[in-house]
Amino acid sequence: MINEQLSAALRQIVGRANVLDRAEELLCYSYDATPLTALPDAVVLPSTAQEIAAILQLANKERIPVVPRGAGTCLSGGPVPTSGGIVLLTARLNRILEIDTANLTATVQPGVVTADFHSAVERLGLFYPPDPASLSVSTMGGNVAEGAGGPRCFKYGTTKDWVTGLEVVLPTGEIIRTGGKTVKNVSGYDLTHLFIGSEGTLGVITEIIVRLIPLPEAKQTLLAIFTALDDAAKTVSAIVAAKIVPTTLELMDKVTIERIESYKPTGLPLDADGLLLIEVDGSGNEVTRQAELIEEIVRHCGAREIKVAQTPEESERLWEARRSAFAATARSCPTVIIEDATVPRDKVPEMVRHIRALAAKHHLAVAILAHAGDGNLHPNIMTDQRNKEELERVERFTAEMFQAALELGGTLSGEHGIGLLKSPFLEWEFGPAGTAVMRRIKSVLDPNNILNPGKMFSEN
Ligand SMILES: Cc1cc2nc3c(=O)[nH]c(=O)nc-3n(C[C@H](O)[C@H](O)[C@H](O)COP(=O)(O)OP(=O)(O)OC[C@H]3O[C@@H](n4cnc5c(N)ncnc54)[C@H](O)[C@@H]3O)c2cc1C
Repeated sequence: MINEQLSAALRQIVGRANVLDRAEELLCYSYDATPLTALPDAVVLPSTAQEIAAILQLANKERIPVVPRGAGTCLSGGPVPTSGGIVLLTARLNRILEIDTANLTATVQPGVVTADFHSAVERLGLFYPPDPASLSVSTMGGNVAEGAGGPRCFKYGTTKDWVTGLEVVLPTGEIIRTGGKTVKNVSGYDLTHLFIGSEGTLGVITEIIVRLIPLPEAKQTLLAIFTALDDAAKTVSAIVAAKIVPTTLELMDKVTIERIESYKPTGLPLDADGLLLIEVDGSGNEVTRQAELIEEIVRHCGAREIKVAQTPEESERLWEARRSAFAATARSCPTVIIEDATVPRDKVPEMVRHIRALAAKHHLAVAILAHAGDGNLHPNIMTDQRNKEELERVERFTAEMFQAALELGGTLSGEHGIGLLKSPFLEWEFGPAGTAVMRRIKSVLDPNNILNPGKMFSEN
């Protein structure tokens, strides 16, 4: 699709070293964290918004697909170049441009790794809460494009609650700015939030303004151990109903605990059916009071034991165990598919029961991990993509699970996006009219459908 003339034009825009087209280089950008793969024709590494504008103008003229890519940790197939064309890598746009302590904002380029940004603001006593479990690799641009969440979103909300402004290169090559540093802004349509969660289909994000808050003074981590997963799930709404807002409320089932312990032994109890990993933060007194109240509720809901981390190191070990859950599950089978159905918090126990029943019905091994405080469930389906018959059962499982989530008033995706994997189901959530509005927005901004085609909307 990309001939020598086009390659030369790309090299002219970004420099010879920043166009990759050898087979082994293309392979490195052919996948994300799903089992999907597809080779691009070229990978380009621009370093400015102007270079990105020139690439998109060229792609529009020649009708070549362009797929933006951060770190490729997506769990819905977003950065996989399923139509070939150009992968546009943001790795060279990797500077923190400003941390503005007078306005409590920061301006970053999209290729900044989330954990590096956390460290930079925390060194100044500031805090940027969104914390996807992939934060040591994933990028701020990828987080914005996916509207990423994470454990701390229970108290602090997701990426969309922290971004106040963007610079975006439109698919047709114009560079626009949305929002800014102000606390208030109701000018015009809210374009900032149109691009957040747009999964690389509406524009390439080249600058991000986020708000910051002071770093909480103290935090406390608790591990509640349950003999019945159902009791752990019911505890979530009991804590919410008691008007306590912990920072995190993470749930793990027995299968997840077993996988973590065989990968990174942390001392999690192998005989428990479910665990809740809970963290509270705030001022010292507030943290102590919240932790005491939570202990009371958790015991009342049937926890057989509660462990309180005694040191920051102990707390970090528990979080490391939680963050390793995906790797721990992935190493135990040839293919793992992570789903993301989300329900209102009070429906978590019902949804957990649905997932267990569907796994049994379709004879599938499923580990349940959840940002339970957000009603955001991640059933990890352990399978083997070479086994076509089993994959058909996986497809039936996911379709029935999405249906159950929607019937409970939930959504297809709490944080991983629609991408390619969930595009056939979009209309289930929004109906034909709602989906048509989204398609019209896409075609206004991207009339030639060159930016990440085939994602979000099913093509057949
Ligand atoms: C182990 C593991 C744990 C995870 N945990 C979480 C979690 O807790 N919460 C959560 O929300 N997600 C989680 N994820 C999913 C994933 O990490 C997030 O979606 C993350 O935001 C993706 O960032 P990335 O830099 O890897 O983006 P990529 O995967 O490269 O891209 C994601 C999407 O964004 C688009 N994109 C990337 N950069 C830009 C840009 N500059 N402009 C426009 N579009 C762009 C791409 O085209 C693609 O559609 C996890 C993934 C893994 C593998």
